[in-house]
Amino acid sequence: MPIRRLPPLLVDQIAAGEVVERPASVVKELVENALDAGATRISVAIVGGGIDSIEVADDGGGIPADELPLAVEAHATSKIAESADLDRIGTLGFRGEALASIAAVAEVRIRSRPHGVSDGAELVVRAGRREAVRPAAAPPGTRVAVEHLFRSVPARRKFLKSPRAEGTRIAEFVRTIAVARPDVSFRLSMDGRDAIDVPATAEASDRIAAIMGGDAAPSLIRVEPRSDGDPDSPRVWGYVGRPEAARAQSRHQRLFLNGRAIQDRLVIHAVREGFRGVMPGDRHPLAILFVDLDPSEVDVNVHPAKTEVRFRRPDAIHAAVRRGVRAALQAASLVPEFEPSPGGPSGPVPASPSAAGPGTPGLLAGRGDGRRFTTDSARGPKGFDYAKASAALDAAPIVESVPTPPGGEAGSRGPRGGVLQVADSFLVTEDDDGLVIVDQHALHERLSFERLRARILEGPLESQALLTPIVREAGASQLEALDEAGPLLARLGLRVVSFGERSLAIEAAPTLFASRGVDAAAFVLDLLDRWIERGPVPDEAAALDEVLSMMACKASVRAGDAISGLAAEALLDAAAACEDSTHCPHGRPTTLRIPWAELRRRFGRNAEAPQRGS
Ligand code: ADP
Ligand code: MG
Repeated sequence: MPIRRLPPLLVDQIAAGEVVERPASVVKELVENALDAGATRISVAIVGGGIDSIEVADDGGGIPADELPLAVEAHATSKIAESADLDRIGTLGFRGEALASIAAVAEVRIRSRPHGVSDGAELVVRAGRREAVRPAAAPPGTRVAVEHLFRSVPARRKFLKSPRAEGTRIAEFVRTIAVARPDVSFRLSMDGRDAIDVPATAEASDRIAAIMGGDAAPSLIRVEPRSDGDPDSPRVWGYVGRPEAARAQSRHQRLFLNGRAIQDRLVIHAVREGFRGVMPGDRHPLAILFVDLDPSEVDVNVHPAKTEVRFRRPDAIHAAVRRGVRAALQAASLVPEFEPSPGGPSGPVPASPSAAGPGTPGLLAGRGDGRRFTTDSARGPKGFDYAKASAALDAAPIVESVPTPPGGEAGSRGPRGGVLQVADSFLVTEDDDGLVIVDQHALHERLSFERLRARILEGPLESQALLTPIVREAGASQLEALDEAGPLLARLGLRVVSFGERSLAIEAAPTLFASRGVDAAAFVLDLLDRWIERGPVPDEAAALDEVLSMMACKASVRAGDAISGLAAEALLDAAAACEDSTHCPHGRPTTLRIPWAELRRRFGRNAEAPQRGS
């Protein structure tokens, strides 16, 4: 083919690819235009997930009739005029591309009437062809209707998800922008039904409560704006969730830069840094954070969708976010608490009376946090009740597939083998070869994983229908992931169905969850988040392993759980019977051994056999 100039419509359609990816992008652009026009009320109506139609109406400044044709032309904007303006962008739009792009891939009808003008006007663009502007009755403000999105661009249409999924994305966007702009009232109707309807308010917290629902609100901690006196410094404020509300995915964070919803790894990272030590490193706390800074300190012109930004001084942003989050957590006394141990220097026993009562000799360590166990000691003072859990586990057929050690022997641990739990996390014992230190969580996780994997080959896990299904809010991508992961979940004994347009219901859960105190809802949401984050499944076995390892992790004793001597012994016995117990399913070691020879060498006791009391 010879080189040739592309026709304008094709140029616009290609360009539209970057701006208009899906119905939610259309809604985003139209709502942002309304906000730029100073609207105080914005209502969005979609049909069929926005694929059939989208209508956004506002009470903003309006477009004069003679400017309507320009509005849908590429690179035509009223928001900037010269290069220098790029350095001080105060509007959400500025590229003059959105309406032109939308008009290139859909049928667009704009009806507008500027304030103080008596008549409105309408412009229709069909298949990229602009019709004549004609007078039309209209209230002050603008209404843009978009129909048949991507009808002329099948390549794009193919990539659209179900109307439900697309609709959920739109709702998700409207909720996000509504959080950013509490001063504006928002309405979203989906297929004629009201999905969102929030009045304008002066209080950001009222809007957050209205959007996030009563459930999330109590878990939020306010991040107060702080000033270091430097007017160029970023101002960071908003809310973060308590650590226990954290999720596996950062998608649950809403970040705003000068009122613009952004996605930014730097800020996400800074939030997590703020939570360091308060929450496991692979989790993302809920966060609604506003970063306000001088427009010249940031470049929003990185990508046509404008959700990516580039900071001039990234380290200053990072530090401000981290400090803001940290200060909020400190103010809420969320630094990790010291848990008193029984008989320890810090006093009373917080657990049930049976825990450290009489008849538990040898329970207490003489020094430090160590706790010396004998096999007849009662269960630990707090935390995971391994004995009870393993009894429950044993009652379930899962245990049948665990190989019992030959002759019922407890592996190679010698008769001397006492167990000491230190730091509520590690078990110290000995075997014929040396001193053994075990990461209790990693080991238990490995064992649970092996059991589950052996068990699942026999059929679905035992499942229990819940009296009342657990209903949780879920995003579009989570519901999509649910569609894909459903069969796998069923094998695990989890019956989860989508429930309305943006929630899911857990109808049955494995009995194992009840006996091990696993929160089914948290498990399911986590699993779906990981599913999304991971992308397409390589193969079923890999997906199953991943899910089983998650399950094993949740159902296992954690680091920090005090456990009884009996439980510790049981754990070590099971490990001895397990073929490969040296690493947890995530590949971290479970066990560390210091050979006797090494110990002797270090103490300068050459070639001497280990002897007690010598
Ligand atoms: P941009 O927002 O980048 O300027 P758009 O293509 O989104 O580009 O819009 C083009 C122009 O049309 C805007 O600059 C604005 O002047 C006008 N416009 C679009 N939507 C509205 C609206 N809802 N109210 C008032 N003016 C609007
Ligand atoms: Mg715009």
